[in-house]
Amino acid sequence: MTEHSISIEKSNSLKVKPSDESLAFGRHFTDHMFIMDFKEGKGWHNSRIVPYQPLMLDPASIVFHYGQTVFEGLKAYLTKEGKVKLFRPNKNMERLNRSNDRMCIPRIDEEFAIDAIKQLVSIDKKWVPSTSGTSLYIRPFIISTEPYLGVAPSKAYQFIIILSPVGAYYKEGINPVKIAVENDFVRAVKGGTGEAKTAGNYASSLKAQELVADKGYAQVLWLDGLEKKYIEEVGSMNVFFKINGEVVTPELNGSILEGVTRNSVIQLLRHWDIPVSERKISMEELYESYQQGLVEEAFGAGTAAVISPIGELAWQGNTLVINNHKTGQIAKKLYDTLTGIQYGIEEDLFNWTLEVN
Ligand SMILES: *Cc1c(COP(=O)(O)O)cnc(C)c1O
Repeated sequence: MTEHSISIEKSNSLKVKPSDESLAFGRHFTDHMFIMDFKEGKGWHNSRIVPYQPLMLDPASIVFHYGQTVFEGLKAYLTKEGKVKLFRPNKNMERLNRSNDRMCIPRIDEEFAIDAIKQLVSIDKKWVPSTSGTSLYIRPFIISTEPYLGVAPSKAYQFIIILSPVGAYYKEGINPVKIAVENDFVRAVKGGTGEAKTAGNYASSLKAQELVADKGYAQVLWLDGLEKKYIEEVGSMNVFFKINGEVVTPELNGSILEGVTRNSVIQLLRHWDIPVSERKISMEELYESYQQGLVEEAFGAGTAAVISPIGELAWQGNTLVINNHKTGQIAKKLYDTLTGIQYGIEEDLFNWTLEVN
């Protein structure tokens, strides 16, 4: 199915690397990129690492018009021994294929894709920043490239991987954020594409995000698209609440994106014998528990921030202040353990990291 050797063309004009302090998120890109083509009848072929460069695409390419595209996001970390490690890349490649299935994009060979990531990161290894909290963000994505204005699955694609050094998410320690519960717009509905990491979901979330940002909120908390009753996720993170000693996260229902961080959090909580349940939870239930003083913690979980504590939730004119605007114990322990494993400070209990040579 896939040709297993990657040709390499090295860049002969290397960029000036930005300083670690000047890094934000997704603004700088490394010297090289990976590309592989797909053509109906031929399958995936011509895998290559080339100097980072613009793409040349036909303006009629399906991706520009109908958004048939998927992406992933993961990171490479520099450990204290100077090794470069990936965090659970197999989970990202499994999810990429689930997104592919939903969007009628041909599957990729997951092991080959992990190997492509490893080779690319290895070539641009000196781009993995070293300051505490920084990392090299990896963005694999697939675009539909057939020039055709009919609404149909493309017969040609490109699988591309680019790399971007990113700064520490928390420069002054973890800070709980204010979140607005979204009552008008929805992110996804059952039967839609919420479960897939596909461009349209993010384009459609911009409006709600823009409106709450104007009022000082960092993100929106999305409710289910049918009844606007049940909690789904927060921004581009899965969400967890600690209520009366138990950690609760919305169950996967077809419209929630299944996060790798979410899965890791659940495994760690089980390992620590902290009660955790995946179930439906409504905003009403959360508010009732809040009024009884039972909501102990709330936090988001995703690759970018790892763990993002929620200090305040605004919902239908009510303000829920959580843990006195302070980072909760479980959020802190999860953050320390996950980043500890990623940066090679803590024992990799579950064999989650993969070294890049
Ligand atoms: C990517 C993403 C997440 C988090 O997934 P991770 O694999 O943990 O980074 C959660 N929700 C949405 C909508 C996402 O796009």
